[in-house]
Amino acid sequence: MTAASPHRVGLIGWPVEHSVSPAMQNAAFDALGMSWHYSILPTPPSQIGITLAMIEEEDFRGANVTVPHKKAVMPYLDEITETAQAIGAVNTIVVEKDRLIGDNTDAHGFMTALVESGFKPTDQHVLVLGAGGAAHAVVYALAQTECAIVIFNRTAARATRLSRRMDALGCGKSVAWMSSEVSLETADLPPFDMVVNATSVGMWPDVDASPWPNTVAFPSDCTVFDLVYNPRETRLMRQARTAGVKTVSGLDMLVHQGALAFQRWTGLPAPVGVMRAAAEDGLRTMRED
Ligand code: NAP
Repeated sequence: MTAASPHRVGLIGWPVEHSVSPAMQNAAFDALGMSWHYSILPTPPSQIGITLAMIEEEDFRGANVTVPHKKAVMPYLDEITETAQAIGAVNTIVVEKDRLIGDNTDAHGFMTALVESGFKPTDQHVLVLGAGGAAHAVVYALAQTECAIVIFNRTAARATRLSRRMDALGCGKSVAWMSSEVSLETADLPPFDMVVNATSVGMWPDVDASPWPNTVAFPSDCTVFDLVYNPRETRLMRQARTAGVKTVSGLDMLVHQGALAFQRWTGLPAPVGVMRAAAEDGLRTMRED
């Protein structure tokens, strides 16, 4: 790297072309007048080792990691933070003195967005839909609070595994699970104050899909948090809005997980407002493509 070269960070995933993270992070670097650049690093599964070696050799400052590599990168790293170990996935890599450190900023992004929305988890009942990578971060974040959690997932085995994992970690109250092999319509749902959609149902291009059946009513004072942020307003969010219940968008979580990654790489507080505007712009541009 020459003295004039910008510091580099990148996004490891496959595919990554439709991510708004480059727009969001580059807007943050520009706003602070920093000579840094964030680029996509499309990496097929067979080439993870090659991309990570390149990050070390070419003096990158760090990276984000997205599907399908959040677990697969872990064996290649020199250190994994306690949070990333607990969640079982890495979404942010920080390069420190030639060591690759794996972290996870999704739980922080989720909790910061939740706090911003005004929802207070203490003594609340939360229904989490999904048991994949994002659900692990959500359940881990919620399990640090005094709320009761029920995981509802299409594949029962994954829900059981997640609930056992959190119990084994001794995270807060025990985490129960249900399988959507019985549907949400027929399930004997416990009372709940918030529903979190941590499935990919409703994500572009399947924008007419929703994980929530129209025939099941939301409790009137419940909050619906949809992790899906593309489209900006999902079908689930429209259902919730129509029912008059409060909504929290996955875009808020995306911005806050990105803001913590920015802070980890640069040591500086992230310009969150700039990042939010850039992410919204990025999503709008994607729609117009
Ligand atoms: P993942 O690990 O692949 O998990 C996908 C989850 O969705 C699983 O629980 C899966 O159930 C469920 N699912 C998929 N298709 C389904 C269907 N047709 N019916 C019922 N359930 C279905 O993915 P992920 O990384 O957890 O991501 C999930 C979503 O969260 C994605 O839309 C992603 O973009 C979003 N996300 C958002 C943020 C943010 O910052 N806002 C951060 C991370 C992820 P099975 O276990 O039965 O397969």
